[in-house]
Amino acid sequence: MDGSRRLVHVPTDHLPAARPVLAAAIPRFLELEREVEEEFRPGMLRALQDRVEALDESRSSAPPVCPQCGRGMAYHDARVVSWRCRFGRLQARARRYRCRHCRRQCRPLLEALGVEAGRISGSLARLLALLGVVVPYELAARLAWQCLGVKVSPMSVWRAVQRLGEACEHYGEALARYHADSDSTPPATGSAADVTVLGVDGCALGMQVRARRRRRNASGAPLPALAPVEEGQFREVKTGVLLLPCQRARPSPGRHALSRRFLGSCLGDADAIFARLWARLQELGWLGPHTLVVIVGDGAEWIWKRAEMFVRRCEILDFWHAVEHAWEFARLQYGDPSARAAHWVHRLARDLRAGQVQRVIARLKTLRTTTPEAREKLDALIRYYTDNAARMRYDEYLRRGYGIGSGAVESAHKQLVHARLRQAGMRWSEAGARRLLALRVLLLNGDWDQLDRLRMAALAA
Ligand SMILES: [Zn+2]
Repeated sequence: MDGSRRLVHVPTDHLPAARPVLAAAIPRFLELEREVEEEFRPGMLRALQDRVEALDESRSSAPPVCPQCGRGMAYHDARVVSWRCRFGRLQARARRYRCRHCRRQCRPLLEALGVEAGRISGSLARLLALLGVVVPYELAARLAWQCLGVKVSPMSVWRAVQRLGEACEHYGEALARYHADSDSTPPATGSAADVTVLGVDGCALGMQVRARRRRRNASGAPLPALAPVEEGQFREVKTGVLLLPCQRARPSPGRHALSRRFLGSCLGDADAIFARLWARLQELGWLGPHTLVVIVGDGAEWIWKRAEMFVRRCEILDFWHAVEHAWEFARLQYGDPSARAAHWVHRLARDLRAGQVQRVIARLKTLRTTTPEAREKLDALIRYYTDNAARMRYDEYLRRGYGIGSGAVESAHKQLVHARLRQAGMRWSEAGARRLLALRVLLLNGDWDQLDRLRMAALAA
């Protein structure tokens, strides 16, 4: 026996395992499908090319008017340009015009088509962005080959995400600004909701941080070496979710499934996430003069501060956060793990759920602590419940169907952010994270088709 071979022990009544074999041929149907695709793809490219040419011929050849200064533009040249689409590379001889006053130039044919010379355009750009929004860029490029039969580099996927994401982010920001202006009138889409639930959550995102761009100084002296990238550079991402409590369906006792919810997300700023959610509420037409906005939060002050923008509101402290604080004390007081701690917390949770926060606080005040650490935790717990008592009427919230936990926003946040942006070792640029988030919000809200109506944004060089 070969000495380098490892012996594997198998029962003696066992036959040696045979090597598994793949089928010698692929199924006939699979072959037929691929044959047809290969045969007709060039025909599709030709058909598309014909239509582009027909469109070009049908267009007026009068020089266009400069979009900047309104004066007539002058003919410049008519070079052949090309761009990539799903079926291959298209070509067109596109007349170029220039404005003598502001030096702006344009190719009316390409503008009419919504494509750009030398770029991936049209539906291919949107599909690549879709793949890049769901999986990392390397993998997205491989999926493009598997799913679309198109060979692209990860960089091409990245660029599609950046340009469409920028357009999408820009639109979302403008919409938030528009609705922040009190004169904006919400579109009349049905009647306002009686009650809307709003939850907010956040997490830290790893950033690739270069404090500022390195610029050459006036004397043209060489730039100093780059500082090493510091570990632990993070930015907060905030997610908000909006839902109607009347749309909570119950598939099984005690479980809630949400039929319709809307997400918003942004990097960093608390004002920004609330501005986004406000705009979303206006667009949905959910917010009327009598709408009660239920805000579920974990007790973070920034949430309650912004909640004041809603005149009619009901603030709820997330039940699980309230209980987790009790656990922290119980572990110190009764040991970790200990049956006594568990018993103590369960009783407290039952009383809180029954709306007896005042009774719980009174009981906490009579407790004798075992250590100074436990004393400190208990005082903090009493303070936390006292400060938030008005947000802990859980029996009432349950009766009214508002819910008592921030589970909906936590799961939304995980889906929106963690699933794509918090994979091992990922680091983001500010712009890259913002653009990707904007597209993920679009996708998860079921609004992906909006991208058809957004022009791919130019990226700053
Ligand atoms: Zn001009």
